[in-house]
Amino acid sequence: MQTGGLLFKPGQRITKGFSSIIDWFFPSQCCICGKLSDKTPYLCEACYRQCAVFDKCPDSVAYHTDHPADHVSAMFYFDEHIQKLLHQLKYQDMPFIGEFLGRCLGNHYQSTQFAESEALIPVPLYHVRRRERTYNQSFHIARGLASVWGIPVMKRALKRCRNTQTQTQLNKTQRQENIYNAFSLRNKTYIPERVCIIDDVFTTGATTMETARILKRAGAKIVNILVVATPRKD
Ligand SMILES: [Zn+2]
Repeated sequence: MQTGGLLFKPGQRITKGFSSIIDWFFPSQCCICGKLSDKTPYLCEACYRQCAVFDKCPDSVAYHTDHPADHVSAMFYFDEHIQKLLHQLKYQDMPFIGEFLGRCLGNHYQSTQFAESEALIPVPLYHVRRRERTYNQSFHIARGLASVWGIPVMKRALKRCRNTQTQTQLNKTQRQENIYNAFSLRNKTYIPERVCIIDDVFTTGATTMETARILKRAGAKIVNILVVATPRKD
């Protein structure tokens, strides 16, 4: 099983200027084991190495016949460690974990077709849910990723027009029906030819495939999907 490699390429370690002063006074704690993590922020080297890398197209993509996405990949399995990080990102007001995971994605997929995207489009939350949570976790993942690839995040390209019911109890068909037409393009938004949709987890893919469908309809030629994790197959 492949597990986590280098967290940052040498030149990208946050060791300069103001950040290093902050780190000196407030050394970063690993979000998983709680130990001080002096070399890398938020996740110590030992915990990172236990995160199982998936780095493939999730099997559930095969459920979608004629799907609109060109390339799909999840970096990790949704195992215990990644699950804990994503839970903290979504429910414990830790947007910096999203940016950290985004940088991991950025480094890992640097030399792939995903990095040829002209813009990143995070899957939007319904506005009520975003207010409850105060931020959209996918936006912060995209922001971290964008800092590595040097491309823009189109935060407001898509709008979630209705509050879909939680998908966890739904089967594949119900998920697709639940999410159909849940997104729309904001007025006059220009969509580049090559875009990459960013989300935290790819389960059946109903949500990201629906956003891909909207973006293709809006004129995108290549729509990729990149997510942090996907569950292991039962
Ligand atoms: Zn740790």
